[in-house]
Amino acid sequence: EFFVGGSIGMAAFPEAGETPDRLLKNADIAMYAAKERGRNTCAIYDPTMDALAVESFRLERSLRHALARDELYIEFQPIVDLSSGRTVAFETLLRWHNAELGEVPPDKFIPVAEESGLIHEIGEWALREACQTLSGYDECAHLRVSVNLSPKQFSRPSQLLDSVLGALKISRLMPEQLEIDITESILIDDRVETVQLINQLDRIGVRLSLDDFGTGYSALNYLQRFPFDALKIDRSFTRQLPDCPKTVSLIKAIIAMAHAFELEVIAEGIETRQQAGFLLIYHCELGQGFLYSRPLLPEHVVDHLRDNAAALTA
Ligand code: C2E
Ligand code: CA
Repeated sequence: EFFVGGSIGMAAFPEAGETPDRLLKNADIAMYAAKERGRNTCAIYDPTMDALAVESFRLERSLRHALARDELYIEFQPIVDLSSGRTVAFETLLRWHNAELGEVPPDKFIPVAEESGLIHEIGEWALREACQTLSGYDECAHLRVSVNLSPKQFSRPSQLLDSVLGALKISRLMPEQLEIDITESILIDDRVETVQLINQLDRIGVRLSLDDFGTGYSALNYLQRFPFDALKIDRSFTRQLPDCPKTVSLIKAIIAMAHAFELEVIAEGIETRQQAGFLLIYHCELGQGFLYSRPLLPEHVVDHLRDNAAALTA
C-alpha cells in the first residue's frame, strides 16, 4: 500500500525570473513554501517568499552550531495515570535557545534539522540526554521516559539502533523504561530496513508508541503488523472533547481498537478536568497536558514528583 503526496512550486516567466536558472530557483523557493503550508499543495512564487527562504537559511546556519554551543536542552512533560493521577512517565521535548533568535519552537527548527540532515546528530543527543537525565534521579527509578524520533532518523537505521543502544548503555536505563514515539509516516513507505529496525528495537525491550494517531492515514494494518506498546491520541482530538459528537465517537473507536490490539492509550493535550473525566470514562489509561503539568526543566522533575506524591496522599 503506497501513499504518495506532492508539493509543487511554480514560477512564471518573466515576473519570477528571466533566465532558466532564476526561474528554477524561484520555483524551488515556491515548493518549499508549499511544504510549509502543510504539504500536498502547490504555491506560485512571489517575492515575499524570499524572506522565508532567507529565514530558513539563517535558522539552518545557527542550528549547525547549536549543539556545540550548548544551546539545545530538553524539557520533561509528565504523563499521568488518569485514574489515580500518579505520574508514571515523562515525554521529553526538545528546546532550542539561541542568543540572536531567542527561543525557537520545535515545530520551526525540527523541519530545518530534517531538511539539512542535522536531525541525526541532534536526535542522538536528545536520546542520550533524556536517558541520562532520567537515570540521574533516584526518584525516577520506576518511571519511563519517551523520546520523539523523526522519520528522517529511520533513513540511517544502523546509526539509529546504535544511538538507542548507546543511550541505554551510558545511562544504564532499563530498556523497558525507554519509550520511542514514532509517527506513522515512518511506516508508510514500508522499507525492509524500517521494519527490521522496529522489530530490533522491540527485541531489545524498548517500548514503542504510535504518535499523533488519527491525524494521518491511520491505517489499521500498522497496529497489526508492528509491535507497538502504546498509541497516542493527538491533542487536536482531545481539544474537541466533549462538545463534538463526531470526535467523541472517533476517540471511543480509537480506544476500543487500541485495546483490541492490547495497546495502552495515552491522550495528549488534556487541558480541562472535563476532558480528563471523559477520557477516563472511555477507558483511556494515560494522559498528558497542561491540566497536569506543562513541560518541565529537568531540575523541576523531582519537585514535580514530590508534589504529585503529596497530592495523591492528601
Ligand atoms: P508532539 O510529540 O505531539 O508533542 C506534544 C506537544 O504538545 C508539545 O509541543 C507540548 O508542549 C504540547 N502540549 C503538551 N500538553 C499540551 C496541552 O495541554 N495543550 C497544548 N495546546 N499543547 C500541549 P512542543 O514541545 O512545541 O513540540 C511540538 C512537536 O515537536 C512535538 O509534537 C514533536 O513532534 C516535535 N518534537 C519535540 N521534541 C522533539 C524531539 O526531541 N525530536 C523530534 N524528532 N521531534 C520533537
Ligand atoms: Ca510525541
